[in-house]
Amino acid sequence: MKKNRSQLELTKEEMTSYGYQIIDAIVEHHDTQKQKLPVALGSREEMDSLFLEEAPEMGTEPTQVLNFVLEKVMTKSTLMSHPKSYSFVPGPSNYISAMADTLATGYNIFSGGWAASPAAAELEIVTIQWLLKIFGFPKKKGGGIFTSGGSMANLTALTTARRIKCGDDFSKAIIYLSDQAHSSNIKAIRVLGFKKEQIRIIPTDSEFKFSVNKLKNCIAKDRLEGLMPFCLIATSGTTNTGTVDPLSELANICKKEDIWFHIDGAYGAAAILSKTGKSLMKGIEKADSLTVDPHKWFYQPYEMGCLLVRNHKYLSHTFTEKPEYLRDIEGNTSEINFYDHGIQLTRRFRALKFYMSLKTFGLQEFRNAITYNIDLAEATEGILRKSKRWEVVFPATLAVINFRYNPISKNYTDKELDSINQYISEKVVSSRKALLVTTILHGQVVLRMCLINPRTNLDDVKETLELCGGFAAEIEEKLTKR
Ligand SMILES: *Cc1c(COP(=O)(O)O)cnc(C)c1O
Repeated sequence: MKKNRSQLELTKEEMTSYGYQIIDAIVEHHDTQKQKLPVALGSREEMDSLFLEEAPEMGTEPTQVLNFVLEKVMTKSTLMSHPKSYSFVPGPSNYISAMADTLATGYNIFSGGWAASPAAAELEIVTIQWLLKIFGFPKKKGGGIFTSGGSMANLTALTTARRIKCGDDFSKAIIYLSDQAHSSNIKAIRVLGFKKEQIRIIPTDSEFKFSVNKLKNCIAKDRLEGLMPFCLIATSGTTNTGTVDPLSELANICKKEDIWFHIDGAYGAAAILSKTGKSLMKGIEKADSLTVDPHKWFYQPYEMGCLLVRNHKYLSHTFTEKPEYLRDIEGNTSEINFYDHGIQLTRRFRALKFYMSLKTFGLQEFRNAITYNIDLAEATEGILRKSKRWEVVFPATLAVINFRYNPISKNYTDKELDSINQYISEKVVSSRKALLVTTILHGQVVLRMCLINPRTNLDDVKETLELCGGFAAEIEEKLTKR
């Protein structure tokens, strides 16, 4: 039975039974996840005591290792696809895509070049074309690439913007983004080696939108000083509030000023599949590049981000390098080598999960799910507004709602409200019954629910609000005793 171990092999029977155990575990998880507690907690000491050991010289029976992992590792990980995981951006995922990932990994498909796997490259071309059409980008000229996530998509975008707009000399280049832009953009700017003095963070207005007037002033001033405005990053669905920047107006400014227009739609862009989203996102089609993040609101499992560009040549001009050992496999330009369109050479076959899940469920079901999410957040807002205890701090926007405990019968100071709401969130998380954390809006501590899980229903939300209410009562009692 163990004769194949030196080739890192299992027998056929072993492989079958091992695989079925994993499938059984995944199916059971999908089926019963709602009854589990979403939040996992654990200190470094606890995790060390469970897992810390030297690399084992001798092997162990496969099922023994598997059972240990199922019991100890999987149970100590927060369930981002749980209906009561509301925080950061949940990862609802879907079973078809999870299995597609298993297939891609099982065959270990190399999705770098055309020659190695023409079908994988073609599926990436096809699914990117689906996305180009969804976002109104030019179908023939447009292009794109799948990445590990939104952060890498933004990095790929800014690298491209700099190459196309500045060439080799970017010493005077200036980049503009709002104070609500995602931190991954600043990270990307830093990775690219820009100095602090080359970054302009423009304040947002009272609704967290890019302040167009302040932006125009800033660009004008930079021009007067002989600097070179080269890129603007707008957000289509901010992570904090779901706010969409005034895309059409920003597009016009960029066109007039010859500035690269990048839109970070990692959180919200998928909502273009809903009526509400479509009207909010007018102008998204004018971007030079657009980040979308299928592992968020396109319900894909981690990791899957995507960058779309107006012209596929932007990517090939930025990323093509020709080492001698890749000489023999250069195809023609229609047979795309995706290693020429981005940073990675060896790449996993990400397109497969997007392809299989869209084929299986159809775009219509994605539209329905996204519309449901947006409606759910609006229904939640309705509940909060009818309550004497809750205050809506920012209305439901693209399935995000920000609120806080602020009973009308009391006159708490801002400081008290901050600590009450902080307390609620800490208690909820440590109860492990829901993942609900705070954010800061206009200097206030608020609770933020991101409702992009199509398996979350209004009862889940109501139960969570009751849980919050209970903890609120607890701290109010403490406050009055003081
Ligand atoms: C999540 C997010 C990102 C980063 O994406 P990752 O997939 O986490 O790397 C970037 N921008 C916005 C607006 C996001 O919400």
